[in-house]
Amino acid sequence: MSHTGQDTDPAVAPASGPDHEFQTHVADGKLWLQHCKDCDTAIFMPRVLCPSCASLALEWRPASGLGTIYSQATLRPRAKPGAPERPPHSVVLVDLDEGPRMMSHLPGVSPEDIHIGMRVRARIDGDTGSHLVAFFPEESQP
Ligand SMILES: [Zn+2]
Repeated sequence: MSHTGQDTDPAVAPASGPDHEFQTHVADGKLWLQHCKDCDTAIFMPRVLCPSCASLALEWRPASGLGTIYSQATLRPRAKPGAPERPPHSVVLVDLDEGPRMMSHLPGVSPEDIHIGMRVRARIDGDTGSHLVAFFPEESQP
């Protein structure tokens, strides 16, 4: 899915702050992380203060998007009567190469194909107004 940014979603109220900045990059198809200029820590979730040194000198940098699966939990949705059964899917914690840990999922990858220590790459999933950072197996890429 290629999404060429520059769309400001009219459904979303004007906002500011680190969360908004993060979402703006995500909506643009990019994963960016905050970095503390004082102690060089990469930061996620977006925030105003560095969590390790309380500095306010944070800047945004593009992330590599590469990470390693730290843990995996499989969710098995209970089918509602009359509704089609939904396949189990995984919620994962990914240790980004930059350091922070991020909760995400691997769309279209079945839980038994996900293992701890697996290398993954971030991808922005979703449509206008609701973009999510998802991951997919790094080795399966052409
Ligand atoms: Zn810091």
